[in-house]
Amino acid sequence: MKKGKLFIVSGPSGTGKGTICKRLLEDDPNLRFSVSVTTRPPREGEINGKDYHFITREDYLELLEDNGLLEHASVYGKTLYGTPRQPVMDWMDEGLDVILEIDVQGAFQVRENHPASVLIFILPPSMEELRERIVGRGSETAETLAARLGEAQREIDKSELYDYRVVNDDLEKAVEEVRCIIEAERGK
Ligand code: 5GP
Repeated sequence: MKKGKLFIVSGPSGTGKGTICKRLLEDDPNLRFSVSVTTRPPREGEINGKDYHFITREDYLELLEDNGLLEHASVYGKTLYGTPRQPVMDWMDEGLDVILEIDVQGAFQVRENHPASVLIFILPPSMEELRERIVGRGSETAETLAARLGEAQREIDKSELYDYRVVNDDLEKAVEEVRCIIEAERGK
């Protein structure tokens, strides 16, 4: 049986990559979403086990030591994120494709071990628009907003190394574009 493919979706927070992934998963029965672990607290509305596995730093470090993470990264200096290895491997073995919604550091780690991974970067229409979207979400202080915007620019600079870059200025169009990328890559 053909093994599943890894699709990595990255982009600064506020670009709408989460919404794009949700839309793709809704009507593609061969696609699975990898739920990451994180040491950050849940935001309002986030569900443990669905959006993230919210775990303690101790549990995270134990998982890392046991080689339980496919990739891992520290984002914004102190928050730890990682992709649990086992579910991803199991789905791929079953022939299912998997979406990892992870940052650029993680994406390059995964590509090193899985060169056939497809890297898709979601770009905001502009930095000003990105700033407005993050402020609109209302969960940032002036300090975390500045950190997120700085991180966004660094990520965008590295996005040239991705296989595909999709600008999300129109959600429907962006979803369709990523859907086409997935279909084309499956056909390879
Ligand atoms: P947020 O805290 O806004 O949900 O995510 C912050 C950043 O961490 C985003 O760029 C997101 O894609 C990234 N991220 C989420 N989960 C993982 C993961 O498992 N690994 C890595 N490397 N980055 C992640």
